[in-house]
Amino acid sequence: MDPILNFIDGAFVAPIAGAYLDNHGPRDGHILGKIADSSAADVDAAVAAAKRAFPKWKALTRAERSGFLHRIADLIESRLESFAEAESLDQGKPIHLARQIDIPRAIENFRFFAGAILHQQEKAFQSSAHILNFTRRDPMGVAGLISPWNLPLYLLTWKIAPALATGNTVVAKPSELTSLTASMLAKVMVDAGLPTGVCNMVFGRGASAGDALVGHPDVPLISFTGGTATAAAIGKRAAPLYKKLSLELGGKNPALIFADCDLEAAVNTSVRSSFTNQGEICLCTSRLLIQEDIFDRFAELFVEKVKALKVGDPRSEESFMGALVSSDHRQKVMGFVERARAQGLSVLAGGTSLTLEGELSDGYYYSPTVLVAPDTSAEIMQQEVFGPVVTLTPFKDYSDAITKANSTRYGLACTIWTKNLDTAHQAAADIDAGLVWVNTWMQRDLRTPFGGMKDSGVGREGGDHSLDFYTEEKNICLQLSASKA
Ligand code: NDP
Repeated sequence: MDPILNFIDGAFVAPIAGAYLDNHGPRDGHILGKIADSSAADVDAAVAAAKRAFPKWKALTRAERSGFLHRIADLIESRLESFAEAESLDQGKPIHLARQIDIPRAIENFRFFAGAILHQQEKAFQSSAHILNFTRRDPMGVAGLISPWNLPLYLLTWKIAPALATGNTVVAKPSELTSLTASMLAKVMVDAGLPTGVCNMVFGRGASAGDALVGHPDVPLISFTGGTATAAAIGKRAAPLYKKLSLELGGKNPALIFADCDLEAAVNTSVRSSFTNQGEICLCTSRLLIQEDIFDRFAELFVEKVKALKVGDPRSEESFMGALVSSDHRQKVMGFVERARAQGLSVLAGGTSLTLEGELSDGYYYSPTVLVAPDTSAEIMQQEVFGPVVTLTPFKDYSDAITKANSTRYGLACTIWTKNLDTAHQAAADIDAGLVWVNTWMQRDLRTPFGGMKDSGVGREGGDHSLDFYTEEKNICLQLSASKA
């Protein structure tokens, strides 16, 4: 595979220092190729290109920018299968997931914001007969976009599409672990005829390229999706520079399963919500809190289904789970489970690394794992694992459920399972989470606010929230002359 080069000013260019990283494929642990290991000098070049391109891009009409976004979406769609293959190869996820979820969502992100920008509304305030206030929203300049490895193209385009639609130019830094589809997207930008410099990509490590982007004086806003600890470092760097920040971070998402729920639906959906994409989705359930009256029955049905999940070759249509993203990440997941065992938590399913046969024997596979945590004190009940590991914990009554659900520093997402509308309503209000699903999971409408509270993030993206984030609002107050009538 050709090395992944930076995409700057419409051209694929080698990193200035000539350094590269190895890109390991999770499926078999083999090296897929090399990735540019960019430095601050590469980031400088990308930001300079984006800055040059900004005035002309900003001056286009909304309809013209919308047209570019539609062309990009159409081109990704025409290459859907090769994008899905690359995403699965690079990330380790089953190809069917990439084909049905990741790549279609990337297409939808462009189409959604291509439409949204045409319908954006400004506000007007008639203060008195002769005083009119109105607001305008203008793009801010070069948007710095930093994305993680779990849903690589899906989350990268969730940032690029609104940033471009609103008239900003972009420098993106995808995760070093999953740069393949970002590089393919750069090729799409060329083929779509996007003016040079409007979208740039700098590949490499967060600590070098990412940090340089966050600290760059010509980048007024940063949209970051990733871990809570990284966000703290980014916040420290960006705050003295007064940058606009959007932080979409980790979670420790609970599912509250009340005794009056539709048990079959709760079990089936909880299996999906816990283990889809190897549990490597920020919205995955990681703590199943179950009312004690149905705890044993739920646990029995849930564990039976988890044990039947097929972990296998990401290329196979039969695999429910593929490989974890990296050897280091698998090590991290194993560490959590081993420490939980040492703390006395029992393992009902999984809890082991898997060595698959033949060419897959060096891949990073891990079994779907279920533990019982009697209370909320164990490390695994507090820290984000971001892998195929869930805990089952009983609760006594409503108040115990809410106390346990809110017992972590995170507040991203939650699912509630009950047939009682009053319970659902009250729990949705009482739970610390930016997103609540009742009797379902992962239904997403791109117009709705997306983001977390507490340590799960700052700000919201999606729909108008994204259009607002990527623009600066200005109020204009007009004194009108008295009527001549
Ligand atoms: P990281 O925080 O490790 O990395 C995220 C991105 O930040 C990567 O591109 C990384 O580069 C870069 N980065 C790392 N250090 C710095 C730095 N000092 N300055 C600038 N950029 C930096 O997260 P992961 O990639 O491991 O992703 C997993 C995390 O993301 C989980 O916590 C998960 O919950 C969260 N997440 C949150 C979502 C949400 O919407 N709330 C959605 C998806 C994931 P590199 O990898 O190359 O080092």
